[in-house]
Amino acid sequence: MTDLALPARNGGLGPVRSGVPWTTALGNLLNLSGPLLVASLCVLAGLLGFTTYASYGSDAALGIAVGAAAVVAMAQTLILAARPRLLEPLFGGLDRMYRVHMWLGISAMVLMILHQQIEPDFERTVRETGLGELAEEAGEVAFNALLVLIAISWFRRLPFIPLEIPYQLWRFSHRFMGVLFAIIVFHQFFVDMPTRVDPSLSVMLNTFGLAGVIAWVYTEFVAPRLRRREFTVSDISRHGDTTAVTLSPKGRTMRWRPGQFAFFRAPDAGFSEPHPFTIASAPRPDGALTLSIKGLGGWTRRLPDALRTGMRVQVEGPYGRFDFRKGGARQIWLAGGIGITPFLAWAESLTETERRTIHLVHCVRTPEEAIGVETLQAAAARNPRFSYQLVATAREGRLTAERLTEMAPFALRDADLWFCGPKGLKDGILEGLKARGQTPRRVRFEHFEFA
Ligand SMILES: Cc1cc2nc3c(=O)[nH]c(=O)nc-3n(C[C@H](O)[C@H](O)[C@H](O)COP(=O)(O)OP(=O)(O)OC[C@H]3O[C@@H](n4cnc5c(N)ncnc54)[C@H](O)[C@@H]3O)c2cc1C
Repeated sequence: MTDLALPARNGGLGPVRSGVPWTTALGNLLNLSGPLLVASLCVLAGLLGFTTYASYGSDAALGIAVGAAAVVAMAQTLILAARPRLLEPLFGGLDRMYRVHMWLGISAMVLMILHQQIEPDFERTVRETGLGELAEEAGEVAFNALLVLIAISWFRRLPFIPLEIPYQLWRFSHRFMGVLFAIIVFHQFFVDMPTRVDPSLSVMLNTFGLAGVIAWVYTEFVAPRLRRREFTVSDISRHGDTTAVTLSPKGRTMRWRPGQFAFFRAPDAGFSEPHPFTIASAPRPDGALTLSIKGLGGWTRRLPDALRTGMRVQVEGPYGRFDFRKGGARQIWLAGGIGITPFLAWAESLTETERRTIHLVHCVRTPEEAIGVETLQAAAARNPRFSYQLVATAREGRLTAERLTEMAPFALRDADLWFCGPKGLKDGILEGLKARGQTPRRVRFEHFEFA
């Protein structure tokens, strides 16, 4: 795999320099409100747990506090996993929501370990019941199983060993989280506890417990039927190891903004697992859309041979908030390899009335690898403020910050940088720009990998 083949692994909101418009600052603040909200709810559960049981001693109160925070953290991981579209703006997109989901899961694991270590002991203060004992034991079993699953999720790439747990195995193990969480909720609900305490904590935990279980049921059984839209494959064309698949809606059309992505599956071809792909075309009146899929792994390499025109496929979405219209008057769009897809949709959507000055730089290994050249040429012909350039690294060497500065028709320090591509390319360019005093006003980048 060349370094240009895989898009950025992490990122999001880049450096924001002073002089940023207030609307942008407000947007950034909004993106932070989601993470702050979920963290506050965990802290609130912890505080409520501590104060409710403070009279039983600090150990008992602390044990309850971390257990309560763990339940709320776990419930919220399940709620975020349901991909609630309404919450996307609070996180700045689904990719960042998944990042928060991951950190919540890790926090839940740490809190659960602490809960087990400081296990509150109410044996002398409460009358034990059979159901309470069952809840105690069930909690123990679920706790250990959850730890294993969360650890698998966390260590997808095994530390110190160049071995990655296959995505499918990881995804499969993830499915059981909800069942185990339901057992934890059962534990929390029925375990023998002192009864003469303020019920606020119980109300909070029961609410989150129920919400988490409902979210899991929705994710696993309801959403797959509700959210998927039927399409048929209307065109397939290959360009090296990238396949452009055009899909036409059957029935309900999908509305999306250029730069958004969707989950695609083709069960009739034996590809039932949904995979995320950016919609590489602008919205069209007939609702057709194009995905450009690069063969990067088992699924994406085998798919093109199995697809046929006329075949029924399913699309779920759209998701994401990668939108150049939120940016300023001067923009650099920088793409690495298949990271060109959101820019193709943007370029196709550009009209002659677009007032922003935009320069797109697409890094590929060889010129033959470049996809969407006609789309970019047409956009440049339509709008003189849009220009683009191909950098073939096998011939010209790697793109450097110095070269990028020379290519841009404006000073980069006065422009916004939109990036989609390998993390190494982004980091190298940003470092170089900083050293040259050309740090862009804003840097936005798209995740092509969740978490
Ligand atoms: C928001 C987003 C937009 C994307 N847009 C494009 C695009 O326009 N064109 C393109 O070619 N690729 C795109 N990708 C990448 C594409 O989804 C992966 O290359 C593809 O899923 C890899 O699957 P595989 O089994 O062939 O490869 P593998 O080698 O099995 O997987 C490679 C990596 O892809 C990720 N992945 C695998 N399966 C899934 C899945 N079912 N759901 C989510 N992630 C998975 C995992 O992180 C895994 O480590 C995008 C990814 C994301 C997250």
